[in-house]
Amino acid sequence: MPDDCLFCKIVNKETDTRFLYEDDTYVVFKDIHPAAPVHLLLVPKTHIRSVNDLTPSHQSLVGGLFQLAAKMAREQGVDQSGYKLLFNVEKGGGQVIFHLHLHLIGGWNR
Ligand code: AMP
Ligand code: ZN
Repeated sequence: MPDDCLFCKIVNKETDTRFLYEDDTYVVFKDIHPAAPVHLLLVPKTHIRSVNDLTPSHQSLVGGLFQLAAKMAREQGVDQSGYKLLFNVEKGGGQVIFHLHLHLIGGWNR
């Protein structure tokens, strides 16, 4: 893992970020600059740079990430009103933190 990865620092509890969810594989926390009433970041604990770096060995990790997204959406009360799931991939795709994360964005019309 790169020493300068902010999300590795968050995962390792080197910041005061509050987790809405944590297990052995993932953490979930609120985006510091929310783009919507609900804006969560779902982050695998392992350092993977971007979607480009996923391999077949990550299959269950990625599947679990989407199941976690649905669970968090239910908990946030946006599962029925609807939400967006977004991966920004590399600089041209808007990625600024190079540690894989899934944005869960919604809550406009709850
Ligand atoms: P991306 O553009 O996909 O790399 O998204 C990175 C996201 O991380 C942005 O939406 C930022 O607002 C968010 N972010 C940056 N620093 C923090 C932090 N310390 N805690 C929570 N979210 C953060
Ligand atoms: Zn990292």
